Amino acid sequence: MKPETTAIHTGLSREAGAIAPPLHLSTTFEHDPVGEPLGAHIYIRTSHPNGEALETRLAALEGGAQAVAYASGMGAVAAYLQSLPPGTQVLFHTALYFHVAALARDRFATWGLTARAVDFTDLEALDRAIGPETGLLWFETPSNPAMDVIDIAAVAARGRACGALTLVDSTFTSPAVQRPLDLGADAVMHSATKFMGGHSDVQGGALILKDDPAHAARLKELRTLTGGVLAPFNAWLIARGLTTLHCRLERQSATALAIAQALEGHASVERVRYPGLASHPGHAIARRQMRGGGAMLAFDVKGGAQAALAVAGRLRLIVNATSLGGVETLIEHRASIEGPDSKSPPGLLRVSVGLEHPDDLIADLLQALG
Ligand SMILES: *Cc1c(COP(=O)(O)O)cnc(C)c1O
Repeated sequence: MKPETTAIHTGLSREAGAIAPPLHLSTTFEHDPVGEPLGAHIYIRTSHPNGEALETRLAALEGGAQAVAYASGMGAVAAYLQSLPPGTQVLFHTALYFHVAALARDRFATWGLTARAVDFTDLEALDRAIGPETGLLWFETPSNPAMDVIDIAAVAARGRACGALTLVDSTFTSPAVQRPLDLGADAVMHSATKFMGGHSDVQGGALILKDDPAHAARLKELRTLTGGVLAPFNAWLIARGLTTLHCRLERQSATALAIAQALEGHASVERVRYPGLASHPGHAIARRQMRGGGAMLAFDVKGGAQAALAVAGRLRLIVNATSLGGVETLIEHRASIEGPDSKSPPGLLRVSVGLEHPDDLIADLLQALG
């Protein structure tokens, strides 16, 4: 099956002939007197039908053998890091989702992990940073919010050569745009709150492994013990979001490209950061590893933070809000939201492109830029 079909037809149970999948809210499942389950489940914290249906669909969409779903993206992040042996060094790309950076700064010492940041767009710098203690290479591509494009195949090859795992936080693209496991990564992490859910109304997270049943079993055991379980209704909503994922991303990516082209060269815009533009430094890599440029873009307003905030304040249609991946176009001044430790360029505005008509979005941005 092609991915669009997989997104609709995998992980289904068609009970009583119903076309829409059932929602099972039961917290407990019948077992025999000595505790042998009669069906596939025993208690909701360990597994439940809607969670398992979603995991089947996620594994199929990413091309992985195992998937584990969580209550949020950060739940998935924490679970993966806590599943690593103590003493592991994690190498992160310098631009990192701010709450992952906060975990590395504030929690790694208690978890027995060490962190080091290196620019993954500079493969020679990455080669120099990898050492015998390195156990995991972790990055987002395109990165948040600077839209750095990192060569997944090149990084994963280096991980394999030194015996380190490679994990891609693929939240910004979704499997409709990019499939890191096909390019050699060992694991993919998602905030399903974003493009997978797709409607700004559900939180969830997931890890998908290329094929490591022992690691998946450790992750599931850890999820049972720490309780970061995705609720059945949230699993149901995310599974529904996935049915329209490819269709949404195709349209959203086309609109993002149109916006990027309209902003490029504008007198008030210093720089447009969109992997689908030939001017993007990672464009050649993006063409190899992405299907289109994706639905995320950023641009730097001339005049720095004050000028960028003024533009954001003049928008009438595009909403100032955090998060991404919904049907409504959102804009955000990341330096403000990330606070004093932020490495975001001061004039940068990040845009999550929705499903509105491109002409309306471009008109709003142009009037705000003046
Ligand atoms: C939102 C996000 C997360 C965290 O996901 P939550 O669902 O909010 O916990 C992690 N990484 C990236 C790139 C994100 O955008």
